[in-house]
Amino acid sequence: MHHRYDVLVVGAGGSGLMSALYASKNKNVSVAVISKLYPTRSHTGAAQGGVGAALGNVSEDHWEWHMFDTVKGGDYLTDQDAAEVFSKDVIEAVYELEHMGLPFSRLPNGKIAQRKFGGHTKEFGKAPVERACYAVDRTGHMILQTLYQQSVKSGVTFFNEYQVLDLIIEEGICRGVVAYDIATGEVHTFHAKAVVLAAGGYGRAFKVTSNAQTLTGDLMSIYYRKGLPLEDLEFYQFHPTGIAKMGILITEGARGEGGILRNDSGERFMERYAPTIKDLAPRDMVSRAIYMEIREGRGLGKDKDYVHLDLTHLPREIIEGRLPDITDFARTYLGVDPVLAPVPIQPTAHYAMGGIPTTIDGECLASSTDIVRGLYAAGEVACVSLHGANRLGTNSLGDLIVFGRRAGVAAAKYAAEVGYEELPARADNFATAEIERLRSGSGTENAARIRKELQETMMDNVSVFRTDETMSTQMEILRELQARYKNVSVTDTGLRYNTELTEALEVGYLLDVSEAMTASALNRRESRGAHAREDYPDRDDDNWLKHTMAYRNMNVPGKVNIGYKDVVLGRFEPKPRVY
Ligand SMILES: Cc1cc2nc3c(=O)[nH]c(=O)nc-3n(C[C@H](O)[C@H](O)[C@H](O)COP(=O)(O)OP(=O)(O)OC[C@H]3O[C@@H](n4cnc5c(N)ncnc54)[C@H](O)[C@@H]3O)c2cc1C
Repeated sequence: MHHRYDVLVVGAGGSGLMSALYASKNKNVSVAVISKLYPTRSHTGAAQGGVGAALGNVSEDHWEWHMFDTVKGGDYLTDQDAAEVFSKDVIEAVYELEHMGLPFSRLPNGKIAQRKFGGHTKEFGKAPVERACYAVDRTGHMILQTLYQQSVKSGVTFFNEYQVLDLIIEEGICRGVVAYDIATGEVHTFHAKAVVLAAGGYGRAFKVTSNAQTLTGDLMSIYYRKGLPLEDLEFYQFHPTGIAKMGILITEGARGEGGILRNDSGERFMERYAPTIKDLAPRDMVSRAIYMEIREGRGLGKDKDYVHLDLTHLPREIIEGRLPDITDFARTYLGVDPVLAPVPIQPTAHYAMGGIPTTIDGECLASSTDIVRGLYAAGEVACVSLHGANRLGTNSLGDLIVFGRRAGVAAAKYAAEVGYEELPARADNFATAEIERLRSGSGTENAARIRKELQETMMDNVSVFRTDETMSTQMEILRELQARYKNVSVTDTGLRYNTELTEALEVGYLLDVSEAMTASALNRRESRGAHAREDYPDRDDDNWLKHTMAYRNMNVPGKVNIGYKDVVLGRFEPKPRVY
């Protein structure tokens, strides 16, 4: 089957829908979205705590303060042109969502309610500020529903439950994508003038993660397999408060509302690590502090491997009224009522700061200087780089609406100006062959077993703390798993809803993204943001104030070539990061 749309968006989370909606406002172009999930099942719908914007509804706030916090939170690896555009535009973008009908929580005076979140401060670091706009603890759900309704109203066409398997790029120009219709098993070719990648993150590379089952880095991996670069993959965020052992997220909003972390003796240990903003320090610092407490024997439980999130000093109305979903999660999954008892938590793999490198208009970079024409990216799949070495809570939802919109507008403008490039003959050859190999091959390996080994070893070796030794070991493990992956076949050879097949494809993506990530982390010999090396514990601006660009070596399997890209500095000079 063959389709043709001027602008094609891959992914129907917040960034994809924002791109599609804004592209569709340009009435000279046709717009379609392809998503392996039904749109409202995208992970954006799981986002809880809020979207940060300096509205100043509760106390004084300014976009410069937000920009400063974002740059400092990112340990100065943030590109400051992106941070400036973001901090200004996110204010207007939040009001736009409000006017589309998004049901934000409200203050008694009717304005959008705002609460505190990690790393968001007033007067350049003096004290926490209320900047997170929220709809109780279902902010992402509300964003997704609102944007889906608006996209349908605006005439966007949806191809739901189509899994993209390949990008068609010839002579540096993107010409479309190839996708697998999960319901029928057919392969479809989509011809386009511009493609926006908005396919989300890859938390499923790790054993304990807050990420949905489907976050497997598909489009990052497809991009990387073509010899194109992935930027700053070594910076992977562990969120401090996942439900112990399970990884299900307890929003930082819980600490924003006054929750406190405690060790085995009930001590509020963050006072020692971040004396000014304590439990509301950025996530990289809090996750490291939890690991240190556990390592020094101050953890709780039989294995002394978790700490407590204590909300018991807060009024019941705050806990149940402003954090209803996570109250439910703790009661359901742990049998713990947060109103009465502290909740066992441990860091959980959460967010990719790195991804497909883009300009501030979402254009994908083929190197530190050149773009791939007709190809755009936004959201967690992309690296613009707003989040630098560590993202602040609430800045991802803001990223989706600001840079999703910019990518959609730029893609539509480009598509309205150019004609269709020719498609290569049999553009679907690669995808069809990949499916056939898995479906009819005689391989003896099982994809689920490989995924389990990958997740366990990534959790141990490329975790909150890393060393040369753990990461070199992981590179060896990855080479072995990749070799075994070549010998995978599926037992279900059916055409309809063959999830064994689609999941086997996803394991392949996870392996390749993990390769780029581990190689980038091994290469960076300093500690910065979420990348904490025990063998190089200090930040080293003289040698490492630069972005990593990881390219797959197309000739030597398992080898990754590393290049670099300058950080865009500006208003804020790199300083030691104290909170
Ligand atoms: C539990 C949780 C809570 C969070 N809370 C917050 C918060 O409060 N504030 C905040 O700022 N951030 C939060 N985050 C982070 C934020 O929600 C995500 O980074 C963001 O939603 C990602 O949006 P996205 O549009 O990039 O991708 P997603 O919403 O993940 O959507 C990805 C889309 O890509 C599609 N896709 C993927 N692969 C393919 C393929 N091969 N073919 C076709 N389609 C494909 C999927 O179908 C899906 O539609 C949270 C994250 C989690 C996991």
